Amino acid sequence: MAIFYQHIGRQLWARDAPRSIGADGELRRFMMIGLEKYLPEIANAEISNLKMLENEVAPTGFQIWGLPSGAQTVVSRMTNGDFLMLLESEKFAYVGQVLHKLSVPSWTLSNHIWNEQSFPIIVFLQGQLINYDWSEFKDNFGISPNYNLRGRTASLSLARITDSKFGDEERFIADIMAKYSVSFQGVEADFRLFDEVATGHFRTVKERTGQSKFRSDVLSKQGAKCAVCDFCVPEGLDAAHVAPKSALGSNDPRNGLVLCALHHRLFDRGLFYFDPETFDVVVNGVWSLTDLGIVHNSIKRLRHIVHESALSWNAEQYRNAGGFVF
Ligand SMILES: [Zn+2]
Repeated sequence: MAIFYQHIGRQLWARDAPRSIGADGELRRFMMIGLEKYLPEIANAEISNLKMLENEVAPTGFQIWGLPSGAQTVVSRMTNGDFLMLLESEKFAYVGQVLHKLSVPSWTLSNHIWNEQSFPIIVFLQGQLINYDWSEFKDNFGISPNYNLRGRTASLSLARITDSKFGDEERFIADIMAKYSVSFQGVEADFRLFDEVATGHFRTVKERTGQSKFRSDVLSKQGAKCAVCDFCVPEGLDAAHVAPKSALGSNDPRNGLVLCALHHRLFDRGLFYFDPETFDVVVNGVWSLTDLGIVHNSIKRLRHIVHESALSWNAEQYRNAGGFVF
């Protein structure tokens, strides 16, 4: 996990933060429902992915921050599960964990939130308002007291983190959230929900967002429909691991197959598999293709998208076990 930080400036913070982060100690909360129409640049698969992510790790909503195009070089390395700290002027006013960075610039959402298209690199975050001195940050990480960030975005090098008293990113973020959270009347800070197990929570977000990237990669490469029955409502589609996570199957999209929830279950239970040479569907003999609701008896169209060694690993397990249950 990496830590990114951006200098905003007092005036811009006062103008922009209330619209997307929060103000007066209260977080702004966005939900995917209602936001969708401002994301015409974003593919359906990515949006359905975002909805699932929201359900899993941000059911109380999320914050949104937009970075100018000029920050692209620095934030191209930003991945889900990383952290973004926003520096108002002499103090950090917000820290959030990256739930998702939109895969392409979204001029429409920038315009909707901030009334201008200048912040198209858009990041969905779950975080907390904080009040943490810039000078203390510089001190903690051995950065020169005279260093001026001036509107730019930067990331904290691994060496600075490991050499600091915190030792790792998660410890540092947990520490500033606990010590410097801005509490406000009557409303518990979100952070309190996972105070005791903050670093565990951070890892969970990292893992979940990794899985959601897998889903989004697989759906965008294979198309958003079940490989064997054409069911195409995104909410009912899964990116199934051909070699499952339980057997240390990877998140390489070539180890994935788009299946509807029903066929995912039947596939995992070993009621059918794929011949790794012909890419034909093989059923176990008790039930027919029709019984299983399988419309396509082959996935040849996915020949160069799904890796044959994943299918052959799967078929091998099936043959060895005479059907298997994960
Ligand atoms: Zn299906």
